[in-house]
Amino acid sequence: MSIKSAPYYWVECDGCGATSTDGGDFSAWADAATAEEDAHGSDWTEVNGKHYCDGCDDPEGEDA
Ligand SMILES: [Zn+2]
Repeated sequence: MSIKSAPYYWVECDGCGATSTDGGDFSAWADAATAEEDAHGSDWTEVNGKHYCDGCDDPEGEDA
């Protein structure tokens, strides 16, 4: 058996730097789309391509 590595993805808050997977069942995801889905499931918000945790959501007062 060989040992291999692959890129993994998670979402980091553009407000405070928190990690979307903190406290979750997984620390990273195998693809970016799943990482974003997981973040949205944890009440994360995406504003103009940036991501904010539920503590920093809507920093610009926009409804995503
Ligand atoms: Zn935050």
